[in-house]
Amino acid sequence: MGQLTAKVAIVTGASSGIGYETAKLFAREGAKVLVTARRHAELQALVAEIEECGGEAIALAGDIRDEALARALVELAVGRFGGLDIAFNNAGTLGNSSAVTDISSEDWQALLDTNLTSAFFGAKYQIPAMIARGGGSLIFTSSFVGRTLGFPGMGAYAASKAGLIGLMQVIAVEYGAQGIRANALLPGGSDTPMGRAAANTPEARAFVEGLHALKRLARPEEIAQAALYLASDASSFTTGANLISDGGISINRT
Ligand code: NAP
Repeated sequence: MGQLTAKVAIVTGASSGIGYETAKLFAREGAKVLVTARRHAELQALVAEIEECGGEAIALAGDIRDEALARALVELAVGRFGGLDIAFNNAGTLGNSSAVTDISSEDWQALLDTNLTSAFFGAKYQIPAMIARGGGSLIFTSSFVGRTLGFPGMGAYAASKAGLIGLMQVIAVEYGAQGIRANALLPGGSDTPMGRAAANTPEARAFVEGLHALKRLARPEEIAQAALYLASDASSFTTGANLISDGGISINRT
């Protein structure tokens, strides 16, 4: 029996990287999965991969900044799969890299919309559906950036990722009595399209790898395992927590 047998999960940012691998892992562990991102073809490929392995998944493409998408995903979970137990609110973007005094208000707002407001929209519809089932697990993909490290050029990104932690903590206390758990996942540098874009020369990649105690980036499959822990009953007494799975970048001084 899988760790998520009979569970229903939403995974955002599922067209690549951490979300893609987590959707596959959740499905392998028995969950019925709703996957979303803007790129429809990638989502279709993911659904096909899950179905080939005997799993169940539905794709709904859309922009995570759209509140109607958050509502539609939950309606789909309830309508097609009977309810919602797990939400991995993971979609995110790096945005443009600028020093704080050079960030335009448009860029600031666009990044906050994608990384933070989207998670609020998600939670707003996910929580009532989970309460109707007697509880559930919300997971927000934050980052070491904005928590344990200040990275130049990432003011808006850091603010969005720190904001997710604040939102998560309030959800944990507002709905804990109704069986809702909320946690943040803080990955280190990960070998995904985003991670590769952030370190896009051999020198930059070597520099970022060297920041980690483990001297490498994470494989997205490794971060998916941390998401599985937070999604599953293995973490049944864990709420309001920051799960750092960052290869030691937060504590490394070597
Ligand atoms: P990725 O492969 O670039 O994945 C980002 C995902 O977010 C994609 O599926 C993308 O889908 C989706 N997304 C972005 N903007 C969207 C929008 N407006 N509407 C809908 N979906 C949108 O990067 P990743 O590394 O897996 O990132 C996943 C999460 O981990 C992000 O929140 C990121 O901030 C966080 N994180 C990453 C690292 C790292 O080093 N990679 C480290 C710490 C935290 P579409 O483009 O198809 O829309």
